[in-house]
Amino acid sequence: MYQGRGSPGEVAVIGAGMVGLSTAWFLQEAGVQVTVYERQQVGAGASWGNAGWLTPALTAPLPEPAVLRYGLRAVLSPRSPVYLPLRADRNLLRFLASFVSHSTARRWKRGMAAYVPLNERALEAFDVLAAGGVTAPTTKAATFLACFARERDARGLLAELEQIGAAGQHVDYHRVSGRRARVMEPALTGQVGAAVEIRGQRYLHPPEYVRSLAAAVRARGGRIVEDAEVTDLRPGPDEVSVVRRSGEQARHDAVVVATGAVLGALTARLGVRQPVQAGRGYSFSVPAARMPAGPLYFPRQRVACTPLSGRLRVAGMMEFRRPGDALDPRRIAAVVEAVRPFLAGVDLDDRRDEWVGSRPCTADGLPLVGPTAAPRVFVAGGHGMWGIALGPVTGQLLAQTVLKGEAPPELAPFDPLR
Ligand SMILES: Cc1cc2nc3c(=O)[nH]c(=O)nc-3n(C[C@H](O)[C@H](O)[C@H](O)COP(=O)(O)OP(=O)(O)OC[C@H]3O[C@@H](n4cnc5c(N)ncnc54)[C@H](O)[C@@H]3O)c2cc1C
Repeated sequence: MYQGRGSPGEVAVIGAGMVGLSTAWFLQEAGVQVTVYERQQVGAGASWGNAGWLTPALTAPLPEPAVLRYGLRAVLSPRSPVYLPLRADRNLLRFLASFVSHSTARRWKRGMAAYVPLNERALEAFDVLAAGGVTAPTTKAATFLACFARERDARGLLAELEQIGAAGQHVDYHRVSGRRARVMEPALTGQVGAAVEIRGQRYLHPPEYVRSLAAAVRARGGRIVEDAEVTDLRPGPDEVSVVRRSGEQARHDAVVVATGAVLGALTARLGVRQPVQAGRGYSFSVPAARMPAGPLYFPRQRVACTPLSGRLRVAGMMEFRRPGDALDPRRIAAVVEAVRPFLAGVDLDDRRDEWVGSRPCTADGLPLVGPTAAPRVFVAGGHGMWGIALGPVTGQLLAQTVLKGEAPPELAPFDPLR
């Protein structure tokens, strides 16, 4: 790929989210000089307001047969945790049609098999970052409870966990009665009639973590240029020109595009045909009289709660709209009402940090990680619901790809040119 000219010594990364910063860090680990271009500020995208879960036991492709049943309910109910605008544009309709065609048990299994090797190394990659100077911690979840109103509501999650286990992913879980769940987490109300405890998971504080990762990249001599929107990439035989909205241009030995939900804007012309669609999610933080000891998951409501810095971050909703659209307060209200019956001593009306951000979703539920059709231009993104958990391992594997000019076998299913 480098036509005998050796591996790149200086690489640009576009996008300072979890994926771009992780890639920059692992490139530095191999002695590469990096420049990160970010159109806003570090962590301005989805990597800011997410739930921060590092949960390999749940990290699976999004398109699955149950999502289809869900989708139908979504269109019919305005209070549903999934929202599709009734007047979808052509791109969204194309994306949804492809998403539906991938929502079969067979495709899910194939996708899950592709995730397993990444999931297995996901937490280890965080340990490498920690050993290398990223100071923000990852926290082992003392408890991790998925909560349900009724015993039978847990069946879907139990079946999913079983299938994730059958695909070769290590998952350690067991059922817990509603009463036991309330003893473990006094912030749960009597409306929680059953729960599933999942062991061995972790979580992090997303804003602190991305800041810390950015600080580590800078401390190792990397440049992070903020307010620098990249509008064009011009690949040449020996280098790639990065063109900014300001008109400034710079040449780099190679470029990694890690621009989250807008990945296609720079990569569609470079042979990446898989569209990336924004699956927008919302979050906010609230005070809790008895802070949960670990994350709480409400699978039926599709809401994730994470204890962060003395407040509970509540995150949820999957809204297929343009990434730049304004925050819709009705979606926040839907998340609030979905969890209100289940939480005690949590003041859901004293909300701070209301936020909307875009999960970078692909129609087949697999990320896009590897070379593009243009020499020296690579892609890292499209992780949908799991770009925080998989960001570091993605960076680790993509750094190898950039250096050798060839993707390791684990990345084959994520070929951006598929
Ligand atoms: C509500 C919610 C909860 C979630 N919970 C979890 C969770 O618990 N665990 C998990 O693993 N994942 C979770 N996710 C998903 C996760 O947040 C994303 O998958 C992940 O943040 C994607 O990271 P990224 O670096 O690819 O993209 P982003 O974080 O979006 O970063 C892309 C960056 O590129 C910049 N950019 C874009 N275009 C340009 C350009 N032209 N020039 C320069 N810069 C540009 C953007 O400003 C942005 O900073 C959640 C998401 C949401 C919305």
